[in-house]
Order: sequence, then structure tokens, then C-alpha cells
Amino acid sequence: MTEARSLEAIVSGLGFVDELQEGLWVADSHGTIVLANRALATLVGLDSPKQMVGRFWQELFPSAEAGRLGGLQPSGDFPTATDTIILDRDRRQIGVSLALARKKVEGVAWYLGTVVPSPAARQPGVASTGQQVMENSVDGICIIEQGRIVYVNRRFEEMTGYTTSQLGRLGLDRLVVSRDRNSVARLVTEPEKVTGPVNLEVRIIARSGQEMDTELHIVPTASNSHTSLLCFLRDVSRLRRAEQTGTDFIATVSHEIRTPLAAIREAMALLSESGGAQLGDRERRYLAIAREEIDRLNRMVDNLIQVSRMESGKETLNLMPVELSSVIRGSLASLSLFVTKKKLEVSTELPAGLPPVLADKDRLLQVFNNLLDNSIKYTPAGSTIRISAEVVPPDAPVLSESDLLSNTRYVQVTISDSGPGIPAEFLDRIFGRFERVDPHGPGIGLGLSIVRSIVEMHHGKVWALSTLGEGASFSFVLPLGDNA
Ligand code: ADP
Repeated sequence: MTEARSLEAIVSGLGFVDELQEGLWVADSHGTIVLANRALATLVGLDSPKQMVGRFWQELFPSAEAGRLGGLQPSGDFPTATDTIILDRDRRQIGVSLALARKKVEGVAWYLGTVVPSPAARQPGVASTGQQVMENSVDGICIIEQGRIVYVNRRFEEMTGYTTSQLGRLGLDRLVVSRDRNSVARLVTEPEKVTGPVNLEVRIIARSGQEMDTELHIVPTASNSHTSLLCFLRDVSRLRRAEQTGTDFIATVSHEIRTPLAAIREAMALLSESGGAQLGDRERRYLAIAREEIDRLNRMVDNLIQVSRMESGKETLNLMPVELSSVIRGSLASLSLFVTKKKLEVSTELPAGLPPVLADKDRLLQVFNNLLDNSIKYTPAGSTIRISAEVVPPDAPVLSESDLLSNTRYVQVTISDSGPGIPAEFLDRIFGRFERVDPHGPGIGLGLSIVRSIVEMHHGKVWALSTLGEGASFSFVLPLGDNA
């Protein structure tokens, strides 16, 4: 302390340090600032240079830079000059030219630093292009170094309602709701494990308490010895609300359509039964067409209701051991009109004693309805559709898929047809929503996406194989009902 006081007395006694244009600090041999001038305080947004006294000079810099500067080892005669970044009171970054010197006075070492804002930062209002892009981005941006937020742009502050320094203390993981906290905390605390860009959907809680749906895009950037994380936060709550409105609309309309459809279907069935002998061939044909189309409409409505259920996140499964044979029978019964019309043969090969699967029976019925509906639609008249099932052998590669339950026995179901088949590049894509090989073909492209969602909700997996021109086969695996 005596060293500090004596130096301060000498320098401030000279009375010129506050006249300097450059920001200046003097630190003792431990690196503690004992003197700073007014230009430095102004640069970092402090009211008085005294507020800097007692701080470690390397704290003025982002940690990555501080490490680098600490290793510069300036010698007394030749101050080391470098371009770097200094942090202001709110930990915003300012580009500066820095000169560092080490002076020995009567055997005691002192560190002197002077900083001058780099040209872009010096002109008021003209930041570097990079800074301008960051500051004016429509997305919130923050930079995390060693677990700590060291920079946020204006939009990030607006979205969260917190200032940079508050966010620096809070941390990114504390901004998100508890449901999403672990996944964010893991990335922030172990940035070196983030080897590529990561996208997360997280809900954040603003300072006002208001919650907001966001997409968080995290990009790792290696600087010196450690990894910094560049985080982009996009507010998607309006988009989510619009999607919700669409989903609610579909759900309501589909439900409303279902009731009159059921009544029409019932009336048709009565008509064809009671009409009996009075109906001529032509009337019978018309009635059959009407019933087929109503069945198709019914399946479409079922699919729409299913999509809205899954979208709303309200979908829960009523799991129980289910006999595959009974579900297949139910599905074929509802499609029998089409099977008869196309004179198709359906062969079902289930081994005797096949154990039940653990499934929601209604949802599983929908899986079969959608897959069989497609096979019937695409296979040529007079051909055969094959349905087979078997317990998956314990060494089958499919069991090592990451989404499947470990130590669990599975059943594999395969439905094959001899239709036109599916081009290789579509084999995976067709499970996406609204994906169709022929965009002008029949259907709306929802059936397979529902199949995939339902199968995955059951911890299963579905895939397609095909040889063009020879047919397609769809397989899925589901856990056995007796695993527990
Ligand atoms: P939709 O049948 O309503 O169009 P799907 O999601 O059930 O929707 O099917 C998506 C697309 O996959 C179909 O449009 C078709 O191009 C292709 N596809 C599905 N099943 C078969 C099949 N068995 N044979 C040939 N193509 C098929």
C-alpha cells in the first residue's frame, strides 16, 4: 500500500493524467489498479476514475483477451502495443489499441497501460460493421465465455428486460423455464463439448415475468485456450400462437365434420340394406361409391384430428397389451370395400403364439389404417398385399437404434405391396408432413407423418424399403407387451 500511495502521490501530484486523451491505468506488481485517469473511466462508462482503483487490470478485458495480454510480458523499454477489446461497465465490448509497459522504480515493478479507442469506435455512433450488425440484429445475440455472459446486444436486452450486467450475473440458463434449464446449462457449463451449431426451442422468462417461446441457436467459436459460445435468440411466440390458432381451427372443424359424416355413413348403410332387391345394379354402384368416399373422408378427418392432437401436445397414450391380429382385422374390415373393389388378396402371416405389443389400440389401428390404405391405393388390381409380423431377434441391428428402449423385446410388422414403389430419395422424406412423391397425386401427405409420430411415441421406429416398379414395403417395430 505504501508503494501505491507513493506512486499515486507522485503522478497525481503532477496533475496531468486527467488531461490525457488516452485512457491510462497504473497497476502494482500484483496487477491491482492503483491509479486510473478520467479518460479511462469515461471510456468504460464510470463516473469517476476512483471506481477503478482496487480492481485487477486484466478484468478490463474479456477473459480470452486477458489471458493473451497477461502472457505478453512487456519490457520496460519497449511497451507492447496491440489491438484488443476492452469491456465497459455493462460488459459491452469496445475495440481499442493498447500499449502495456512494465516499469521498475526503485526495484519495484509497476504495470502501465494506455488505451485509445480504435478508429471505428472513436467516432461517436460509428461502430465497426460487425458491431453494427450485432447491435441492430432482429435476433437477440449474446456471447458466453467460461459460463458467463460477456456481451449482449440491444435486442437481447429488450427481449429479456435485463441489462448486460444483470445478465452477466444471471447466466443464460437462469433465463429459461425450469423444463428447458438442464439442456441449456449443460451447453453453457461444458462449451468444449459443443462441437457444432446447436438448435434448441426454449421458453424464456423475461424480467417482467412474461414467458416467451424462442429458438436458441448456439454456435461454438474457439478463441485461444477455450471455447466461447455465440448465442442467437429468436422470439417465435407470435409464430407459435398463429400455429396454435391453425391447429385449434382444424381440430374444431374436424370434430364438427365427424358427426354428420357418421350420420351419412349410417344412413347409407341402412339404405343399401333396406333397399335390398328394389335397388338396381346402377343404384348399388352409386351407393358403393358414396360409401367408399365417405370412408376416405372419415380417414382424412381422423388424420386431421390426430395431427391437431399431437400439435397441442395433449396426446397421451393409453398403453396396454394389444393383440396385433385383432387390430389388423379391425383395420381390414374398415377398408374391405376398397379391397373387394380392387379384387385384392390380403395375406396375413402372424406366427402362432405371437405375443401382444404394448400399444394404444386406437392409435395402432390408425397406423394400420394409414399403411394399408396406401398399399391398397397403390397396388394394382388383382394383386396381393402381405402383412407379416415376428419377434425381432435380439441381435437385429434395428434394436441398437438410439430411440428404441434398451433391454426390451420388440415385434416387427411389415406390410408389402406390388405397386409402383418409391424412389430411393423419397424413402425417408415421405414420412415428413405434406410430403408426396407425386405432388399432384391423391391424398394430402399426412398419413405417413402420423404413422411415424405414433410409432415413435411408442418408442418404436418405422421405415420404408422399395424396388422401383416392384412395390414398397413398410416396416415398424413396437415393444412387446410383456417386457415389464
Ligand atoms: P397421402 O397418402 O395422404 O398422400 P401419406 O403420408 O400416406 O400421404 O403418403 C405420402 C406419400 O408417400 C404418398 O403421396 C405417396 O407418394 C407415397 N407412398 C406412400 N405409400 C406408398 C406405397 N405403398 N406405394 C407407393 N408410394 C407410397
